[in-house]
Amino acid sequence: MFDSLSDRLGGVFDRLRGRGALTEADVRQAMREVRIALLEADVALPVARQFVDEATEKAIGQNVLRSVTPGQQVVKIVNDALVAMLGGDDPAAAELNLGVSPPAVVMMVGLQGSGKTTTTAKIAKRLSGGQGGRDRKKVLMASLDVNRPAAQEQLATLGTQVEVQTLPIVAGQQPVEIARRALQAAKLQGFDVLMLDTAGRLHVDQALMDEMKAVADIATPQEILLVVDSLTGQDAVNVAQSFSEQVPLTGVVLTRMDGDARGGAALSMRAVTGKPIKFAGVGEKMDALEAFHAERVAGRILG
Ligand code: GDP
Repeated sequence: MFDSLSDRLGGVFDRLRGRGALTEADVRQAMREVRIALLEADVALPVARQFVDEATEKAIGQNVLRSVTPGQQVVKIVNDALVAMLGGDDPAAAELNLGVSPPAVVMMVGLQGSGKTTTTAKIAKRLSGGQGGRDRKKVLMASLDVNRPAAQEQLATLGTQVEVQTLPIVAGQQPVEIARRALQAAKLQGFDVLMLDTAGRLHVDQALMDEMKAVADIATPQEILLVVDSLTGQDAVNVAQSFSEQVPLTGVVLTRMDGDARGGAALSMRAVTGKPIKFAGVGEKMDALEAFHAERVAGRILG
């Protein structure tokens, strides 16, 4: 198992005790331990580096050196900086921006296997069930994934499970055509929200990126949510970068937070996209979706 950050820093400062006043170099040494803790939690290297630089400046500025418990103070500074960087604990952050004349369009993007289809149905359930203190919405889901066999059927099955309608499947249609048909159906039938589950990709692939951009152009979504597996680790940064260069992301959903990931991907995603992490997937069941809690994840990252 990993040592907790408090233990690590306690160790650093214990070794220095009895040597008189601590120096700036001592703080830097402590921050090296912070960097290791971040990397062990799978925060991407450039993000960890930038975070540590900022936290070091703060620690030196706050006269940690003269404190009686420098270890605890450094932990607090690091924790506060992490929470702030993860977006604070703002309950409004998890809300989707659906305040337009209906239908509001929510587009889900991400790598194949990230949990995109599952998350689409989870969010649809949440919205249609009036969760999160909002009104019950009339939601329509449509899968634009024509590459993976049975992807459209998978969404339809989940739709039945969560009692949310899915767009009838028409064989042979291309994603842009499906998106157009979905928009029209949502308008004509008075749906409040249209959720578009786009094709997954095994890796970042330009043809699929172009397809995603074409769909975004015609559907003009209010929300484009990037779904990322929290176990993605160091690669999370590349995924976030590629997607955010192609479409204007509005938020991130981190899945598999019920697994053994220490949540470092959250910090990387937030740093790279600058967008809020709206939800955390915490299981395979349809109600295993939570608002993202920065405090909780900061604690997990620091160990
Ligand atoms: P997609 O290819 O991105 O659409 O991925 P899917 O939605 O098909 O999900 C792939 C697998 O991950 C499925 O077996 C899901 O049940 C599972 N999954 C999705 N989200 C979570 C989560 O938050 N926790 C766990 N444990 N499993 C999840």
